[in-house]
Amino acid sequence: MPDVQQQFFDDEPAPWEADAEAIRRVATIVFPDGPPGEFDYVVPEPLCDQIEPGCRVRVPLGQGNRPTVGYCVRLESRVVAGRPLKAIRDVLDRRTLLSPAMLRLTGWIAEEYLCAWGQVIETVVPAGVRFQSGTRQATVLSLAPAAAGRLDELNLPPKQAAVLAALAAAQRPLAVGQLAKLAGCTHAPIAALRRKGLIAVRTDRVENAQPPEDAPRRENHLVLNPDQQRALDAILAALRSRRSETILLHGVTGSGKTEVYIQAIQEVIHYGRQAIVLVPEISLTPQTLARFRSRFDHVAVLHSHLSDAERHGQWQRIADGRVQVVVGARSAVFAPAPHLGLIVVDEEHEGTFKQESAPRYHAREVAIARAQAEDVPIVLGSATPSLESWHRARSGAFRLIELPRRVLARPLPEVGTIDLRERIHARHSRGAISRPLHAAIDEALADGGQVILLLNRRGYSTHIQCPGCGHVVTCPDCEIALTHHRTEEIALCHYCDYRIPAPRECPECRFAGIRYSGQGTQRLEAEVVARFPGVPCLRMDTDTMRARGSHQRALAAFRDGDVRILLGTQMIAKGLDFPNVTLVGVINADTALHLPDFRAAERTFHLVTQVAGRTGRGEKGGRVLVQTFSPEHPAIQAALRHDYAAFAASELPLREMLSYPPYSSMIRIVVRGPSEKTAGEFADHVAVRVRAELDTRGASARVLGPAPAPFAKLRGKYRFQIQAQSPDRANLHAAVRQATGGLKPPDEVQWIVDVDPLDML
Ligand code: ADP
Ligand code: ZN
Repeated sequence: MPDVQQQFFDDEPAPWEADAEAIRRVATIVFPDGPPGEFDYVVPEPLCDQIEPGCRVRVPLGQGNRPTVGYCVRLESRVVAGRPLKAIRDVLDRRTLLSPAMLRLTGWIAEEYLCAWGQVIETVVPAGVRFQSGTRQATVLSLAPAAAGRLDELNLPPKQAAVLAALAAAQRPLAVGQLAKLAGCTHAPIAALRRKGLIAVRTDRVENAQPPEDAPRRENHLVLNPDQQRALDAILAALRSRRSETILLHGVTGSGKTEVYIQAIQEVIHYGRQAIVLVPEISLTPQTLARFRSRFDHVAVLHSHLSDAERHGQWQRIADGRVQVVVGARSAVFAPAPHLGLIVVDEEHEGTFKQESAPRYHAREVAIARAQAEDVPIVLGSATPSLESWHRARSGAFRLIELPRRVLARPLPEVGTIDLRERIHARHSRGAISRPLHAAIDEALADGGQVILLLNRRGYSTHIQCPGCGHVVTCPDCEIALTHHRTEEIALCHYCDYRIPAPRECPECRFAGIRYSGQGTQRLEAEVVARFPGVPCLRMDTDTMRARGSHQRALAAFRDGDVRILLGTQMIAKGLDFPNVTLVGVINADTALHLPDFRAAERTFHLVTQVAGRTGRGEKGGRVLVQTFSPEHPAIQAALRHDYAAFAASELPLREMLSYPPYSSMIRIVVRGPSEKTAGEFADHVAVRVRAELDTRGASARVLGPAPAPFAKLRGKYRFQIQAQSPDRANLHAAVRQATGGLKPPDEVQWIVDVDPLDML
């Protein structure tokens, strides 16, 4: 290729560039970091058989013809009229990084989430794959055409016959050493076969050896109960008819959803196809993985802690069809399964399926689009479905299947509230744990049970304020109250990590009695240790779970009973299945209830219901106590009764009245910059343009703002938001695309467009 390259660096047009009338190969290129949009280039003759859609290429870009890497997304042969096109200089990949179906999916994401196609492709193909981490160049051997299919006729000496048989059985190229080992011979017979032309040789990239997986304990299928069987039958019907259907599996916590997925996947594997199971990152616990590994021989796990080389290795295994089930977090939706048969999105309501940096896709929505494109069913499972999914199920777009009962006729735990207002009036107790909760913990421990305590705030004190002058200690860059962390004796900003030594006096007025208040998990831990001396307790939050493997170790200690009280943030609220947990205490159910976010009630309902679901999973049963200042709130009331339908029925009319999702689509634009004035003015400008675009289209729409975002200043940048809503999704997208395309912000001002935002702060 170097000679070809040389030609392109000359200024002379190459022969195929000179003649304007001839038909040419034209490649459409998109750039990951370059300008947005699509650009056409001519494919020079020598590169025609190297390029494929999905390959990376190097092309000259802009006035200076800066060599720039882009992705080929389309190839066609046509007459190039008008201005001659520039030519591609290099094709960088020997095989395409994306199947045609995946390439189309990336195009869909770019359209749907108003972002650059090249950037989406860059996200979909992991860096480790692009740079082939963990591989090296090696000589590999395969059956020559002369040998393929006629091994029996060749009449070879036994050693040579064994070599060819091993190679045929491997069904993929092998290195010399690998082949010799498989055939149980020296290199001599292999060399002989090469000389006879029965083995073909080429250099290729091969994987470095991967550590073998531990052989898991095998487990047999459980006998499904009638509800589970109905759910499985519905999924199997969709599988057998080879049609894409979205099934919302609404099953209460502990109803046995995972067993239904597993048995459906079994069928998919019978067809020689693969399944993708998306779970929230936090649920990628050894417990979950062991369940899949105990049922399937070839499971690939994709999580965020993989090294580039490991990720590339897994990607390759999947692409080669050597994996039956891919279990992974958000980005596993892009796993290159060659014959996809089924997608499962477990805990589909989880916010972590949404990527909070560009491209801001939601993995559930991408999974639905992929399933439709590949004509396969998709199952969305949850005890607390997102209202978006619930609404689509009720309107018939999804099929709803319910698992209303727990397995083995286990009852759902009894849930009670403790009214914190009364407690404050009566001055019953100091600290975070009320008397009734304390008594319940004593009781649970006395019966040999285990306890989970949820408090969704980390740190020791969440509020530092001077009673003299009223000054609140805040982050200068974010204007958010600093949290006191006691291990390091610092006051910390949870957004930008700004930290100062914990103040002993008011920084404003020097008053010495500055007050630390507000409960964080560190303080709760201290209180538990003081109240229940000698009872082993463990705190799980992002502060204690930083080290690799700490999460696993903590859960193992809890499972083994070495820890009796597990306390922590929402990290402990989800997915855990420990039969000996007989009490769950929610320290303050209201922490998220009053945030300026239209999903505040939904999040609170999810959190309380999910954490409540962690108890009563064994024969001892279980109970839940929820401390709250708002016991009458419909979200809390519905959670007490495990009544999802009641929650949805109370919440959906509010959404409809205010035309919030799921009744309309929403796009949030956030503008930020170090100057409040410049950022604000640019936000005004954007809002004017968005309004004007929506007006000309006559779309029924509402545009709020610009207004300061709820977090009006973060990391030293002032933030303004614009919120556009419309039931007419296509028109809303088109209008925002039109209004923001080519918009140049002033220096130092940045802006993002978030389609279907989950983060409203
Ligand atoms: P979910 O995902 O709905 O919360 P799980 O799939 O975790 O529920 O199931 C809860 C527990 O019930 C698991 O320990 C599982 O092994 C067990 N289980 C599931 N289905 C059955 C069944 N049909 N019979 C007996 N136990 C079951
Ligand atoms: Zn800060």
